Amino acid sequence: MAPAAVSAESSGTTTPTTKSASALTQAGIKHMRAGSSTQAPLDASLMTTELTKSPRAVPEPESPEVLAQKTCTDHMVTAKWTVESGWEAPELKPYGAFSIMPTASVLHYATECFEGLKLYRGNDRKLRLFRVSRNCERMRKSAARIALPDFDPRELEKLIKALCARDGAKWLPKDRPGFLYLRPTMIATDAALGVQRPKEALLYIILACFPDMSKSLGAPAPPALNGTVNGDGHAKPASSGLKLLASNEDSVRAWPGGFGFAKVGANYGPSLVAQGEARARGFDQVLWLFGSECYVTEAGASNFFVVWRNKETGRLELVTAPLEERIILEGVTRASVLQLAKQRLAKSIEGIEAVDVVEKRFVMDDIISAYKDGRLVEAFAAGTAFFIAPVGHIHFRGKEIQVPTEEGESGVYTRVIKQWLMDIMYGPEEHEWGVVVDEVA
Ligand SMILES: *Cc1c(COP(=O)(O)O)cnc(C)c1O
Repeated sequence: MAPAAVSAESSGTTTPTTKSASALTQAGIKHMRAGSSTQAPLDASLMTTELTKSPRAVPEPESPEVLAQKTCTDHMVTAKWTVESGWEAPELKPYGAFSIMPTASVLHYATECFEGLKLYRGNDRKLRLFRVSRNCERMRKSAARIALPDFDPRELEKLIKALCARDGAKWLPKDRPGFLYLRPTMIATDAALGVQRPKEALLYIILACFPDMSKSLGAPAPPALNGTVNGDGHAKPASSGLKLLASNEDSVRAWPGGFGFAKVGANYGPSLVAQGEARARGFDQVLWLFGSECYVTEAGASNFFVVWRNKETGRLELVTAPLEERIILEGVTRASVLQLAKQRLAKSIEGIEAVDVVEKRFVMDDIISAYKDGRLVEAFAAGTAFFIAPVGHIHFRGKEIQVPTEEGESGVYTRVIKQWLMDIMYGPEEHEWGVVVDEVA
């Protein structure tokens, strides 16, 4: 078992290039080339820093610049990987373009995955990330699905924090609560057209100015939704909350055995036709259904929740699609909603009735019959970008569902869950999910 002995001996943290070749058997070298533990691991402690010489002005919140979603902070973090040597030392450096060859794998085969999370400036002036370790774990899973290299998620977390610490103080002024959007990304950069596992990759983290999407939701709807009759001859009364258009039979976001559970770019490009169509017809997002049964899966790039009264038990239920089939993305927000609801809504509080929290398959017909029976209580979308957004309206193949929003803007459960999460993200609630970042002054 010579190869095993070699790989065990060389599985330390030093890079393989520092080892003398004679110390490795032929088999060991082959093993190394195939991508073994001799590759250097991602190591945040090796990060080098080069500060920008041309710092930029911070745009005003909700300014056209912010709404355009093009502005990033002064710096970014990058780390290169090659199959021969593993991870190189990460670099914190000025934000800017990088060059890749036209043959780069990512440009042809969608060898890309990403994460999305926010950096919050709290009401208490502290800088926080929300459950960042979950995003790092998920990025690792997404990378594995698309044949991108593995890494220790704790090292990614350190790199994210380093960027936040560097740019947080300037880009999230202490006197005004708000957030920036973090986009850790990994792409395969091999300059070769062969359809094969990537041999080179680039991990990078950028920190972008981002509009508060929840503010844009109350915008007046296009005429088609304001009680007039639109193209398909249906009157659509105005209502508050998100307006969702259920997907058609010919448009599927994800399927068993696919990659809908991974945050890979390949999931999003192909969804833009349906999304564009929904927008053009005056809807905010697509409600993605699956199969001839019309299983309800997700709303846009957010998880979907419904509250209804169970016909059999007579009890209130907070329901969302399950993870087993791997056709939905396991949102950090989703997991947090489920956990908080289980902990805090198991018994009635402050006059709010208790709910059973259930992850199960459900279909459009379940929503329709709850609506018709008056058992539909509320619905909301949950994800980092839209946060917790009440749903007011669902259009499903000629049928209109007015989802109740009991308190006008939203339902009771949507409101309390959103508030609990905000208290953790912005303070005042000290909670293990709210990870305080020490900033460089
Ligand atoms: C990112 C994403 C979500 C939400 O995940 P969060 O971690 O809560 O932001 C839900 N669905 C899809 C398809 C997504 O891409």
